[in-house]
Amino acid sequence: MKTNFLKLSVLATLLVITSCSVQEVETNPQEIDLGDKSEQALANVFNGKSPESDCNFEYEGKEGPEFWSSLCSGEWEDCAGNVQSPIDIITSSVVEDGGINNININYEESQVSIINNGHTIQFNYDGGSSADLNNIDYDLLQFHFHTGSEHTIDGKRYPMEMHLVHQDPVTKLLAVIGIFFEEGEEQEVLKEYMGKLPKYKGDSYSSKSTFKVEELLPDDMEFYTYSGSLTTPACSEIVTWYVVKEPITASVKQLANFEEIMHENYRPTQELNGRIIRTKD
Ligand SMILES: [Zn+2]
Repeated sequence: MKTNFLKLSVLATLLVITSCSVQEVETNPQEIDLGDKSEQALANVFNGKSPESDCNFEYEGKEGPEFWSSLCSGEWEDCAGNVQSPIDIITSSVVEDGGINNININYEESQVSIINNGHTIQFNYDGGSSADLNNIDYDLLQFHFHTGSEHTIDGKRYPMEMHLVHQDPVTKLLAVIGIFFEEGEEQEVLKEYMGKLPKYKGDSYSSKSTFKVEELLPDDMEFYTYSGSLTTPACSEIVTWYVVKEPITASVKQLANFEEIMHENYRPTQELNGRIIRTKD
């Protein structure tokens, strides 16, 4: 007997999050159960344009950050929203909260796959690594870089910021850990890859050797946390941010190497609009 099931699921294209935005890397059709309030946000994520689309953005000029919300036929209107990232973190207004848990990471070694997507240099991470962020277990998808930093602390901008992008496998919402770089000792973990960073859009580099992103984290993972957005179009307001206080170092030469390829790929800080930034008590 043949039975037709009415499937109340949504057939969506699985997108891999890149550059705090979404670009199509895999096209495995999957059934995705869109939960209640995140549905609209997810729709925005899935509408994120692939690098091949007509929609483009830049960090200056006519497609610069102040125009993002009006580009792409209105699909990026969230960029003019009230819960946007990055922000300037005014430390005197940060609220201490005893209910916040420490970041609990569970990262595995991963093979190295580095891509230049035209906006950032991104290290894609193998599956199986996760982080427990305030009692939600998020999968680590990728990490990438911005020169200078996107978040600022009391107006101070660091020379570089790394974003470790995680996704809740159930709700599909994101959590991003931001790590600042300051000038100092050479960054040993990145040393091996400095000469191999893909220089032009579409370039990539991959190696069978493995990489431990954990070694790129500072000893002290104390953080500021707040609700915000992707920092590139479509600027979807689906991100819980964890901005780590203690910076790590890279040499002047290493920082210059990143900036030479990515140029200034940071979005200006956005209005807080009444949001509260918290830190662990
Ligand atoms: Zn980013």
